[in-house]
Amino acid sequence: MNLDDGPLDPFHGDPDDPAALLDDGEPAQPLSDDEREDVLADLAELASFRTTLGPQGVDGITVDCGDCGEQHYFGWDLMAANLRALLGEGRTHVHEPAFAPDHDAYVSWDYARGYTDAVQALTKRG
Ligand SMILES: [Zn+2]
Repeated sequence: MNLDDGPLDPFHGDPDDPAALLDDGEPAQPLSDDEREDVLADLAELASFRTTLGPQGVDGITVDCGDCGEQHYFGWDLMAANLRALLGEGRTHVHEPAFAPDHDAYVSWDYARGYTDAVQALTKRG
């Protein structure tokens, strides 16, 4: 922060400030092929979670954030958007969780996986 009488940022207050595109965290790291595979698998899993849990009144996923140590609540769409962002189709918004989420309507990824696996095992039986 420069509080001296130095030159003003020539783009100060300009919504087209090119720097505004850059000040949202570190530059994105390209994913390795393995990481891409993982994210694609997560997206597929998320879709099955939503199919299975959505009708049960579950609104999304909770994530323990390694960055800020808080728990974040992601609706299905936001979670999918974050995963797609990792693939380079946008930005992650991990610190912009759902607005006023109903905490009881969100489950952890592991819970969603266990529940979905159980339901799929039941429906495939016979
Ligand atoms: Zn966070």
